[in-house]
Amino acid sequence: MAFEGLAERLQATMSKIKGKGKVSEADVKEMAREVRLALLEADVNFKVVKQFVNRIRERAVGQEVMKSLTPGQQVIKVVNEELTDLMGKEESKLAQADKAPTVVMMVGLQGSGKTTTAAKLANHLRKEKNRNPMLVAADVYRPAAIDQLNTLGKQLDMPVFSKGTDANPVDIVREGVEQAKAENHDYVLLDTAGRLHVDEALMEELQKMSDAVEPHEVLLVVDAMTGQDAVNVAEQFNAQLPVSGVVLTKLDGDTRGGAALSIRAVTDQPIKFAGMGEKIDQLETFHPERMASRILG
Ligand code: GDP
Repeated sequence: MAFEGLAERLQATMSKIKGKGKVSEADVKEMAREVRLALLEADVNFKVVKQFVNRIRERAVGQEVMKSLTPGQQVIKVVNEELTDLMGKEESKLAQADKAPTVVMMVGLQGSGKTTTAAKLANHLRKEKNRNPMLVAADVYRPAAIDQLNTLGKQLDMPVFSKGTDANPVDIVREGVEQAKAENHDYVLLDTAGRLHVDEALMEELQKMSDAVEPHEVLLVVDAMTGQDAVNVAEQFNAQLPVSGVVLTKLDGDTRGGAALSIRAVTDQPIKFAGMGEKIDQLETFHPERMASRILG
């Protein structure tokens, strides 16, 4: 299960302070030290850890805790709130254009789960939001990606625009969006190419695609299992493309949690969805407060 180690350590730390009728500065110091170690061990970015621990230390010796009748529980509330804030406070919704179709461009490295997530998101939009989405297969460098999206489209009985692997991806997305307009789709989801590493050619091509269709939402798909690498990748994409949100995939795996807890603070981009398995319906809207409560038990 994701966050297992982190959850265990934080819960153990919190249970020590929970019942305390009085919380001394030494208690706070000890708690902060343990929280710091737990976060570092969960592969959370060290700058993020430092800021986080400073915040809870400050708040835990502040009046809201010291003057409370249940200071131990108040400390836990502080940690819970700060964890929630760290992941973005509130649910962040998918963009919706004033004039349909809303163009959503999916970007990310190969293997991050981009193609699967495009299909999952289309399914989510139709089932949960009563939308009529269309998919566009523009990952021309991984031939299997186009077949994969076509297969998923068939399974879902959802239209997939594709022009094979020889077409120019910029033309594909442009024509795909035109077709979505002509056919009155309210969302059009573009599956773009990824590579094994971020490189200039990839970024240039994605920029051209983005300039051509001016997406309302650029969703960066990152694999939560890759920890701080995911955060570095996110930083690079975010610096070069108009990223507007993140999808964290493979949160069902035994990720330590570093990516989920660092990405928002490092990139200032909200996590909008979480991939919770390989199946088409295993995509969830990301709720920071629920995730924080899951970690703190
Ligand atoms: P792409 O290269 O970025 O398009 O990646 P794919 O969509 O082909 O996904 C790569 C692998 O990750 C596939 O085996 C997917 O089934 C798997 N995958 C994608 N999302 C998730 C997820 O949320 N959980 C799990 N366990 N596997 C996922």
